[in-house]
Amino acid sequence: MDINFEGKRILVTGAGRGIGRQLCIVLAKSSPNVKVVALSQTQANLDSLKAESPNIETVCADLGNWDETRKAVQSVLPIDLLVNNAAVASLQPVLETTPEAIDSSFNVNVKSVVNVTQVVAQNMKDRKVAGSIVNISSQASQAALKDHLVYCGTKGALDIMSKVMALELGPFNIRCNTVNPTVVLTDMGRLGWSDPEKAGPMLSKIPLGRFAEVDDVLGAIIFLLSDKSAMINGVTIPIDGGFLAC
Ligand code: NDP
Repeated sequence: MDINFEGKRILVTGAGRGIGRQLCIVLAKSSPNVKVVALSQTQANLDSLKAESPNIETVCADLGNWDETRKAVQSVLPIDLLVNNAAVASLQPVLETTPEAIDSSFNVNVKSVVNVTQVVAQNMKDRKVAGSIVNISSQASQAALKDHLVYCGTKGALDIMSKVMALELGPFNIRCNTVNPTVVLTDMGRLGWSDPEKAGPMLSKIPLGRFAEVDDVLGAIIFLLSDKSAMINGVTIPIDGGFLAC
């Protein structure tokens, strides 16, 4: 498939590690004149990303800090394509869930998505350009997972917020969709699923019999960012080998 991001500026949050980092590297190679902006919270991770892929522009900000984030995103405008990828996972049983875990997770996984999207989409609207926003959700938005009360809650919120964004921004030709992966063995994935006693039962519920690879997720994100999905708006795409279908 011929996908071209020539001349586009693409912002990826949570780009220091895992899915976001690999996405930046792939996007930066996708077209000769594409500009990828990687936002994350640890400067050392951004420095090593820049060393690996020197054309990437980096910006360091804590998405949990509303004002700092707004300033950081304003400093990298204009942006044509946005991937709200950053998230945290805090695993606690229902009866032991702390108010701190609720606040810190919703702050990064939900509130910061509104913040970043507001700055980017307002600028797209002002410039009268089409845009695409991809929010990285999870199968956990639609299926209960033990000890994932807060994480599931944030991803459920993200799915429906993305549909409201699709509704309100669609008239300005700004699309918004989510991808909803199953387990990917990044740092975050290993936190919940590296124990074979937990991984086994999860794998047995995935018809394809394996966890997702980072590349499985990137393919769907890149499709949704591109013009190949020009009529797709407000969807949640599982990348789960059939987990949510069963
Ligand atoms: P990782 O934990 O590997 O990476 C998360 C990235 O987000 C890091 O670069 C981290 O920054 C950044 N980040 C976290 N908090 C903040 C913050 N406050 N401000 C700025 N940056 C922040 O996660 P994954 O790559 O695994 O996950 C990416 C997305 O995919 C997330 O939305 C996740 O919920 C989703 N997902 C992941 C699955 C999995 O199994 N891995 C399954 C389904 C969905 P730093 O490097 O600076 O610490």
